[in-house]
Amino acid sequence: MKHIAIVGAGLAGLTASVLLTEAGYEVTLLERHKTPGGRIRRVSAMNGETFIDWGQHLMLGAYHHTLKLLDRLGTRNQLLPVTEATPFVTQDGKRRPYRIGRLPAPLHALPGLFHLSQLSVKDRLNLGRPMLAAKIQSRLRPVKLDRTTALDWLRRHHQTPAAIRDFWEPLALATLNTPLAEASALLLAVVLSKGFFARRTDAQPLLPTGTLHDLLLQPALDRIRRKNGRMLANCRVTGLEFRDGGAAGVQTAEAGTIRADAVILALPPWALEPVLKTSPALSKLGRITTDFEPSPIVSLELWYDRPWLRYPYAGLLGTKAQWIFNHQANGSGGGYRVSVVISAADDIELPREAFLETVIGEIRRYFPEARGAKVARHMLIRDFRATFRARAGLAEKRPRPETGIPNLFLAGDWIDTGLPGTMESAVKSGFMAAEAVTKENPGMFHGRSL
Ligand SMILES: Cc1cc2nc3c(=O)[nH]c(=O)nc-3n(C[C@H](O)[C@H](O)[C@H](O)COP(=O)(O)OP(=O)(O)OC[C@H]3O[C@@H](n4cnc5c(N)ncnc54)[C@H](O)[C@@H]3O)c2cc1C
Repeated sequence: MKHIAIVGAGLAGLTASVLLTEAGYEVTLLERHKTPGGRIRRVSAMNGETFIDWGQHLMLGAYHHTLKLLDRLGTRNQLLPVTEATPFVTQDGKRRPYRIGRLPAPLHALPGLFHLSQLSVKDRLNLGRPMLAAKIQSRLRPVKLDRTTALDWLRRHHQTPAAIRDFWEPLALATLNTPLAEASALLLAVVLSKGFFARRTDAQPLLPTGTLHDLLLQPALDRIRRKNGRMLANCRVTGLEFRDGGAAGVQTAEAGTIRADAVILALPPWALEPVLKTSPALSKLGRITTDFEPSPIVSLELWYDRPWLRYPYAGLLGTKAQWIFNHQANGSGGGYRVSVVISAADDIELPREAFLETVIGEIRRYFPEARGAKVARHMLIRDFRATFRARAGLAEKRPRPETGIPNLFLAGDWIDTGLPGTMESAVKSGFMAAEAVTKENPGMFHGRSL
């Protein structure tokens, strides 16, 4: 049986580990932290009384690879479709509901868009233009589209400043974690054509009933262990071992050298760089990471003394807080918790008090029903490197899982999945890397197909 070393127990590394152990390989998963999950890890909250996710995550029905993984793990039923309308709340306190229509695709998107009454009727009708162009241009002219910023592309499709401010910018921040002025038009078009304008079920928002640890991480680890795999936690990979010009194992700070027949580096670009720097054989590969810059997300977790939010989640327009999620509705997290998300938060280093004061003030202003409720506890989560910045011109630079170095592969949400830095991209990259391992090493294949 052949041995694969997989570096990084984030979603990408865990997916590759599940698939390869199921296919009959012996897998060692190496994780530098004591807990698995990377950016979807759990953290202890309320003085250890409960666990919450390292930042709120929302999924879509279009996350086909993630759903396939959940089917393998048997936990898909822990992911609930949000069937209620999502309100966009504006400064005047009005709630403008966005709901997926009952019509067949792509018409299901239209009633929802038409109810966005923060926009003029003309602006609402015009939203259809980029939606239609997205489908065609992302297929026919992907390279040209990627070199264009989403802002330029939207302007070319007759989007007014009001439509950009009140619809497109919040959408780009939520899905690409990158402002429109920088973002790739191709990635925005992919979001529109795979999510909003694909099948009705693809546009369906999905929320976990508990933590992502319970949904994905623990079941994945249990599966890996049952199938001849192991995870070494607190084990940082510092470099690679080579034999005959190919990867032959990893060097670790804590467990010395671990030999393997192939290595998958399932790391974000900023964690990959120090590993690649350690060997001249990897210098060419090292250069690819320099084009990728991180984009931050701030999450503010607020525990209230009483329930007040009526929706599973809501969008806020014209505020620092962009989305607010209700954990009373899906039962996770303990107490009356809401999670506030601020994507591409360039002011991430503001003092904690400034975030608290601004966001709690905004909630009171936008939701009169919150005015009588008191914040009993809070927790501020700042992730400086939540995703890669989905900049225009990056598509051609995203690497394939095959590195050109025998037996060395890449995975992670930033590789060439064609998707923004999301859970779906990470899982898809895990599928791609596992397939590349089995394809490049047909003699190594001992089990059933992926
Ligand atoms: C706050 C926040 C909110 C988000 N919201 C959403 C959302 O709503 N929807 C969505 O789809 N996505 C969202 N994302 C993005 C999503 O979480 C990521 O795209 C995905 O989890 C990335 O997984 P990954 O495996 O590629 O990388 P990572 O999760 O970064 O995994 C890499 C792993 O490698 C380990 N590692 C690093 N260096 C070494 C080393 N030298 N040796 C050993 N191990 C090492 C790290 O500790 C880590 O565990 C969000 C992310 C954040 C942070």
